[in-house]
Amino acid sequence: MANGNNPFLMAQRQVKSACDKLGTEEAVYEILKNPQRVVEVAIPVKMDDGSVKTFIGYRSQHNNAVGPYKGGLRFHPDVNMDEVKALSTWMTFKCGVVGVPYGGGKGGVIVDHRTLSEGEYERLSRGYARAIAPVIGEKVDIPAPDVGTSGKVMAWMTDEYERATGEFAPGVFTGKPVEFYGSLGRTEATGYGVAIMARAAAKKMHLPLEGAKVAVQGFGNVGSYAALYISQMGAKVVAVSDSTCTLVDEGGFHIKSLMEHLKNNDNNLTGYAGADKELHRDELLTLDVDILMPCALENQITAENAHDIKAKIISEGANGPTTIEADEILDERGVVVVADILANAGGVTVSYFEWIQNLTRDIWTFEKVQEKQAELMENAFAEIWDLKEEKKTNIRNAAFMISIRRIEQALRLRGLI
Ligand code: GLU
Repeated sequence: MANGNNPFLMAQRQVKSACDKLGTEEAVYEILKNPQRVVEVAIPVKMDDGSVKTFIGYRSQHNNAVGPYKGGLRFHPDVNMDEVKALSTWMTFKCGVVGVPYGGGKGGVIVDHRTLSEGEYERLSRGYARAIAPVIGEKVDIPAPDVGTSGKVMAWMTDEYERATGEFAPGVFTGKPVEFYGSLGRTEATGYGVAIMARAAAKKMHLPLEGAKVAVQGFGNVGSYAALYISQMGAKVVAVSDSTCTLVDEGGFHIKSLMEHLKNNDNNLTGYAGADKELHRDELLTLDVDILMPCALENQITAENAHDIKAKIISEGANGPTTIEADEILDERGVVVVADILANAGGVTVSYFEWIQNLTRDIWTFEKVQEKQAELMENAFAEIWDLKEEKKTNIRNAAFMISIRRIEQALRLRGLI
């Protein structure tokens, strides 16, 4: 990995740049530049063939001045300590952007879970939960799903944590299945938020959403729901991609049929009969569209392709999809980038609602969850947009600035600065 694309260095540079623009005292960056704690664990798993394989996992706890650490767990072959540290840093600021009372955390395990049997997947998930049980808790650190994990994994982990601690603690993980202390609207939340944020940006730019052309990179939980909601808002999703291919349909995809196709096709887009054409997966980003939604992994929009992007609005469903160099190019070209820590904050927002329901033993309706999510995110967008205009900067910087102000207040009141 080129140093410039090391996500942790990138996260540090983003925090530094916002601190400098705000003129905060040096102590703030000094405290926020590193996670408070990073735990590495080795998880031995009994494989189906009788052998034992050890997997390496991490949990990074970036900062808890505002509240307990909060953030997802990623199961992916490219997981590494710097990535987890970066993702935990972004979580601190993401929580600050929407004003939910959490700090940032993130975990990961180096594994391609698709190579595991269901039993191995469960034993690895339980092993990871046991290994980190001493450093997490309902009021300490609350993990959630991310790439390669899901509600099912959260249920295994909650059960394992409760066995390890002997406590009933449904609020220790969020993103659980609705039938097991989960919240209605959580599965849809991140993608729904990405769509709401694209709509908010389109309104500011006087771009009618009706018939606007959209391309969505990544068709997992985030990308699929982002596509579904933006199409329900009147836009036309003309391209979608995953690790297998890019599909194009100039007339606009029927997203529910695509989601159905995935279920019957080993979670791969390739081979979908309803598409006009199938391209290489990397061709999606530079297609002629109005709105681009990168909903896959980090470092997708880079100095190499940023000049060729045609979209006027980018709503970042993934964490860290745009490199700093690409950000500068897009800025110069006047492309509005709704930054990840705002655009994909819907997930953690509804995780917060789930946690409230768990702690109070309450159950909210789907409508209440979505209404509250939309209100919170639209308010955050409006506040950030105004600050962006006032400071003549971009959405990312303004989002970091608002967040840093909130965290700075907590640090000050705690007497840490
Ligand atoms: N993994 C998601 C994210 O990156 C959700 C985190 C959460 O719900 O705590 O924002």
